[in-house]
Amino acid sequence: MNLTEYDISHPYTAKLVRSERITPEATDEVRHLVLSIDSATFNYLEGQSVGVLVPGPHAFGNAQHFRLYSIANSRQGEQGEFTEISLCVRRCFYIDEVSGEQFPGIASNYLCDALPGDDILICGPYGRQFLPPKDNTCNILMIGVGTGIAPFRAFLKHIYEERKTWKGKVRLFYGARTGMDLLYQNEKNKDLALYYDEGTFKAVEALSPRPVFDDPADLKQSIKENAAEVWELLQDPKTYVYLSGLSRMEAQLDQALSEMAGSEEAWLQTKFELIGQKRWATLFYA
Ligand code: FAD
Repeated sequence: MNLTEYDISHPYTAKLVRSERITPEATDEVRHLVLSIDSATFNYLEGQSVGVLVPGPHAFGNAQHFRLYSIANSRQGEQGEFTEISLCVRRCFYIDEVSGEQFPGIASNYLCDALPGDDILICGPYGRQFLPPKDNTCNILMIGVGTGIAPFRAFLKHIYEERKTWKGKVRLFYGARTGMDLLYQNEKNKDLALYYDEGTFKAVEALSPRPVFDDPADLKQSIKENAAEVWELLQDPKTYVYLSGLSRMEAQLDQALSEMAGSEEAWLQTKFELIGQKRWATLFYA
């Protein structure tokens, strides 16, 4: 990550208020963290991220390790607490290609190991390219995998709890390896179930066809099963599309949407129009 892209000159000291595991023990660990930031100058909008600075020294000689995390709550704070924000963090590991050894990812393990009362340095907020539309008659098509759900949790809280009367269609296509990995929609935490009764909201799940082989969630199939509605939404000039999570999801979507459009060229033309009209926003990570 290129640190020079981000202003880290004014970090805030946040205090961890609580940390809750939101996946069962039988699957990968993802935690919902609530941080308190007692500063009137820390203001953000749904879809923005914060940078976490992990103090060094680190193995590669860098004084600080910096990673981005999406804010998972709306602008009015986590559960209405104005000074609190939440993050949804997957504990990451990487395998050294030469030795085959497994190493913990620095920032994600630092956050997942943190205990209530610990101080955490955060910077930002960053990113203004992933904001929900202001007009409540707009349609919102959210497509995400894994912790990519975090900004959508923020969107839904804003739309249905703060704006209250959202008239456009709101659709969430969400992919996870298994039902246990459906964040905020599993036995550990059901936050998103709050919106299932909203007349304008519909959520569609996509799971991996072969979870034991670590195959990705089949977003392509769930989009195809809802092709008519998705295509109609994409043709509507009031529709805004948001993609969030691992970057490999984009290829799956391009395939599904190319089939709907009749050819890859036809889809790319529609996609470039959406991008040009600022109705296609992505928040990807490796
Ligand atoms: P790192 O220590 O950086 O390691 C992670 C990767 O770096 C490994 O997989 C490996 O490929 C490589 N690597 C590092 N060191 C080595 C080495 N010595 N040898 C070989 N490979 C190495 N994550 C979330 O969990 N939740 C979010 O909401 C979220 N939001 C994000 C928003 C944005 C805009 C972006 C860009 C990313 C987001 N991420 C999010 C991802 C997050 O920023 C981190 O990339 C992730 O947590 C891993 O960071 P880490 O410090 O734990 O791992």
